[in-house]
Amino acid sequence: MRLSPRFALITGGFVALVLIGGCAVSTVGEASASAVQVTASSSASASPTPSPTVAPTEPVGPLEGRTIVIDPGHTGAWTAKWGYRRVSDGNGRKKACNSSGTATNRGYSEHAYNLAQAKALAKELRALGATVLLTRTDDKTRSNRLCVNHRADLLNTNSADLLISLHADGNLGKGHRGFHLIVSKAMHGGKTVIAKSKALAKDLRTALEQGTSMPRSNYIGKGSAYSFRSDLGTLNFAKHPAVMIELGNMRNATDAKLFTSAKFRTQAARAITTGVVNYLS
Ligand SMILES: [Zn+2]
Repeated sequence: MRLSPRFALITGGFVALVLIGGCAVSTVGEASASAVQVTASSSASASPTPSPTVAPTEPVGPLEGRTIVIDPGHTGAWTAKWGYRRVSDGNGRKKACNSSGTATNRGYSEHAYNLAQAKALAKELRALGATVLLTRTDDKTRSNRLCVNHRADLLNTNSADLLISLHADGNLGKGHRGFHLIVSKAMHGGKTVIAKSKALAKDLRTALEQGTSMPRSNYIGKGSAYSFRSDLGTLNFAKHPAVMIELGNMRNATDAKLFTSAKFRTQAARAITTGVVNYLS
């Protein structure tokens, strides 16, 4: 796995930052030590200078002060009666409140994967100092807040830095696999927010490619892994940067195997975190 210097910096970002923080402390320590030395050698009779007290510096993570919203797509509590109700898609049309999501051929559901992936991602983001808000934290809740016209509410009401909506695709095409990133062409935040969302998608794509064993989609985006849409309420309602990640294709056996692996989920969570840090830095 080849790491770009930027990626490597961010992968070890926290360490690097701790070191920088540590440097600040030790520099003061070294400076005061040499000052004492100079004083001692320049004048033997000079009384020793008391060492200044250095307050220990708490390491600051690169996401300190940032608020990230994670949206684990769908819910295990989906029912036809609840899910098929028509709501606004944020772009002049109506669509179902939510869909049931897809599943692997062996029955691992997308809503369960999305939640597991979201929890892994929250852990990584929090470890770097971020405040993380989730649109759902379990797989049993059925609430109108989980309709597509409310998925961006936490992002908007908290003026969060960004939203990442986690999904996995259910494409039946033979050999179709890999991740892709969806950006809305009709965001309530307007052109600036769309441009920022594209920039976020680019950093996420780089990080996912370099940090995971999931390749770019071979069936969406003609090799770019980008999909630009205007029918997704989750993204359309966003007033701040938002990207939907389809982390792979659940109907593909190779991708499905990765989704069921905790190791992969950690890998993906770290990669997404790297993308977020790169985007925000
Ligand atoms: Zn989905």
